[in-house]
Amino acid sequence: MKALLETHLALWKHRSSQKEFAQQASDITSSLLKQGGSDFSYDGVTCPACGNICVVRVEPDYDYADGESYLSGVYAEQLHCYFCGLKLDTYEALTFCGCKWPIGVRI
Ligand SMILES: [Zn+2]
Repeated sequence: MKALLETHLALWKHRSSQKEFAQQASDITSSLLKQGGSDFSYDGVTCPACGNICVVRVEPDYDYADGESYLSGVYAEQLHCYFCGLKLDTYEALTFCGCKWPIGVRI
């Protein structure tokens, strides 16, 4: 896991000298953060590899009681950093990187 983060940090160091690349990554990130659907939303967190803002796709978790559903929490599903290219989509990896959910509900 540590090696993976170091690889992406090195990638970002290499890419950060390209202005257009950084600009593009920043555009994608901010437009994704404005998006959201009825069954998921995006949250920005600090990338565990390069320290830029990366996008975490979060999904609400519902519980059922008395025939009705209610929102019981929000869980991270996938982390994607457009700056260094880091992509995490397992619970173990997300937890390792400090993406601990549930977080504040904002859906
Ligand atoms: Zn990153």
